[in-house]
Amino acid sequence: MNGLPALPRDDASADTRLVPFLARVDDALHARWIDELRIAFADELARRARSATPSGTPIRIELVRFADLSDVERAGVRVAIVADADPAELAALPALEWVQSLWAGVETLVDAFRERDVGIARLVDPRLAEAMAEAVLAWTLYLHRDMPRYLAQQRAGIWADHELVPAGARRVGVLGLGALGERAARTLVGAGFDVAGWSRSAKSLDGVRTFHGDDGLAALLERSDVLVVVLPLTDATRGLVDADALARLPPDASLVNVARGPIVVETDLLAALDDGRLAHAVLDVFEVEPLPPAHPYWSHPGVTVMPHVAAPTDRPSASRVAARAIVTWAASGERPETVDPRRGY
Ligand code: NAP
Repeated sequence: MNGLPALPRDDASADTRLVPFLARVDDALHARWIDELRIAFADELARRARSATPSGTPIRIELVRFADLSDVERAGVRVAIVADADPAELAALPALEWVQSLWAGVETLVDAFRERDVGIARLVDPRLAEAMAEAVLAWTLYLHRDMPRYLAQQRAGIWADHELVPAGARRVGVLGLGALGERAARTLVGAGFDVAGWSRSAKSLDGVRTFHGDDGLAALLERSDVLVVVLPLTDATRGLVDADALARLPPDASLVNVARGPIVVETDLLAALDDGRLAHAVLDVFEVEPLPPAHPYWSHPGVTVMPHVAAPTDRPSASRVAARAIVTWAASGERPETVDPRRGY
């Protein structure tokens, strides 16, 4: 990316806020993001054409590549848009006050800012929640309708049917009832499943049995024929789905992990699959990504591997979320909700 010629800038004056985009993606994708973000900022500024700062100065924002910033410009940057940003680039912005992430999972940013007071706004985008709810429904139906078993039978040329369990008799447990988990739980209820959910704080959701805290976890696990993980990766959730948690699931239960790989202990999961306590695991996320070629998951009959595609960021929609947040901040000083660094999400 550094080898590319500098992007043309609009007539940047002293009161223009330079907002760099920091991402470790290839040049073509970087350029697509810049285009999409510039469109979103132009639309947002046009929408607020009459908006002005308290002093009456019109809001001026220039989206730039990190590589195009001079040292003086870097020293003045107060907000940046990030997607897997290079920690060295973040460290080169000493006046940074907050960042808008284009991803929902922000564990690497939480790590990068452990020693700095920089606000992290995660991506909260209805398009993301929609995609995640669709993926959770798809994989729950896949497990509910015994598809891994029928696929194995097809490969072995076996014609055999198995008893159909009605959706209402299938208990699905959703770990994490945030922006993504809540929507997924509601979608599962809409499809007729018997749904329960677990969060850190107490919650109430129509049609969903809710549990919270350590005691609540055991109770949720014991009634989860399908366990769906939609938690953030934090110090408290790393390794949460371990041998003990898996042993609490009913016989023949299945797992769907669409959150982050390190929440599930790989060796414990493989042991539970190998000794038949767990029927199947659908894994979208892994300890190491891409999943290494020699990893046992690739060929394990009890594992479905997906390459981290459950809820990809939608570029136009995420760009609009970022533009709206930053223009609002530029106009009023009001930041979007940021991550609590002690909780890690
Ligand atoms: P969120 O809005 O921050 O919600 C997190 C949920 O988890 C909340 O309900 C929270 O409880 C609960 N939680 C957190 N720590 C907990 C703990 N220690 N014990 C019990 N519950 C806990 O997050 P989100 O936007 O829904 O996103 C969830 C995760 O999905 C992201 O962090 C990311 O890792 C993952 N993700 C994956 C993909 C993919 O394509 N595979 C795409 C996007 C996101 P409270 O409600 O009590 O706070």
